[in-house]
Amino acid sequence: MSAPGLSDLSDRLDRVIEAGAAGQTAWLARLASFDSTRGKEGPCQAWLAGEFEQRGWNVDSFAISEVDIAGKPGASAVVDVDYDKAIQVVATAGTEGGKGRSLILQGHIDVVPTGAPELWERDPFTPVVKEGRMYGRGVNDMKVGVTAMVHALDALASLGYAPDAPVFVETVSEEECTGNGALATLERGYRADAAFIPESLEHKLLRAELGSVWFRARILGKPGHVMAFDAAANANLAAYEYVQDLIALTAEINVEAQEHPWFGHIDDPVKFSLGKIHGGDWLGCVPSWCEIECRLSVLPGQPLPEVRARVTERLNATADRLGTAHPEVTWIGFQADGHVFEPGTEAEAALARCHGEVMGNALESFSQTATSDTRQYDLYYGIPTLCYGGTGGGSHSPQEYTDLKSMKDTTRIIALFIADWCGLRPIKGKEEK
Ligand SMILES: [Zn+2]
Repeated sequence: MSAPGLSDLSDRLDRVIEAGAAGQTAWLARLASFDSTRGKEGPCQAWLAGEFEQRGWNVDSFAISEVDIAGKPGASAVVDVDYDKAIQVVATAGTEGGKGRSLILQGHIDVVPTGAPELWERDPFTPVVKEGRMYGRGVNDMKVGVTAMVHALDALASLGYAPDAPVFVETVSEEECTGNGALATLERGYRADAAFIPESLEHKLLRAELGSVWFRARILGKPGHVMAFDAAANANLAAYEYVQDLIALTAEINVEAQEHPWFGHIDDPVKFSLGKIHGGDWLGCVPSWCEIECRLSVLPGQPLPEVRARVTERLNATADRLGTAHPEVTWIGFQADGHVFEPGTEAEAALARCHGEVMGNALESFSQTATSDTRQYDLYYGIPTLCYGGTGGGSHSPQEYTDLKSMKDTTRIIALFIADWCGLRPIKGKEEK
């Protein structure tokens, strides 16, 4: 059997993906029914491992604690988290020793916490389909991408084809806080000629992305009775001063960003977020301590040590102004570089062909003001990495949804990409007549 042309294969894939659409939607709903927030990934990963085994793929399921990632480029700080429970799954599909180029298909299954329950119209982990959209925590970011990459291989198999090279199907955690899940797969030895991460990106290619740093500042006041206090004495009130100064630092970095080759066209790309705050013990006492936990974006090219030094200097300057001790600063999660996926790779050319075939237009790229796992493969391990996927909205909010028509398009595009990048070989006895 000779290799099919792109157009012909695209039409046949369209038919099998359409025929399997209800099953694929049910599979996404099952995946999205797992509460796979940090520390709870295990049952979701066990279900996926079972699904992969049923497909005849060789499954490696392991905890991050089994891999030595400390001090490796791309490693992020971890505080108060049990990495024995941070399960990663890598399934090997495709053909060992085939003639094509190998590929990593990667998606994260960790989801962000649901937040205030009053803001949800429905249970976050009971996905609902309405007017061509599925709603629920994690459906768009990015369980739909995981569903598309698995069903892309299924669609090829139902046409009687297997990739003619190893394809590593990786479902990782820790994407939303460190990137250490992706790093653990790389350090465990899984490498390939290209990687593909189907994050929901409106059918555009990620050209550049920001990194981020997460930190905690422990602010001490000058405690006493509440009848005698000022802003510096009250650690909770002092926190406002620190936060205002960090917002001012962010504004300064955003002025510098106006000159950035990949982010200069975006207004204020660098975001500061005060994510958590807690302090004080007793209402009759001026609070003696307050801890703020914050996130700050990092531009591609900004060295992380420099960013951390600027944050620390600014916090110390606030303390000096208030006449209090310098706060203790701890780096508690993402220590992620910004990253640019340089134009001109063969992987991008292949994606452009497959995108054009399905979407009928030219592939566009864009600069994203958030962080993904892409840097782990592309920046630190030299694996050209495409971050590209379908349409949805409301990620990280109670309105999160994904578009099911777009899921089918993404599935077909990934299947075509596998054919283009890895080549195909017939599965014995399964050729479609
Ligand atoms: Zn994501």
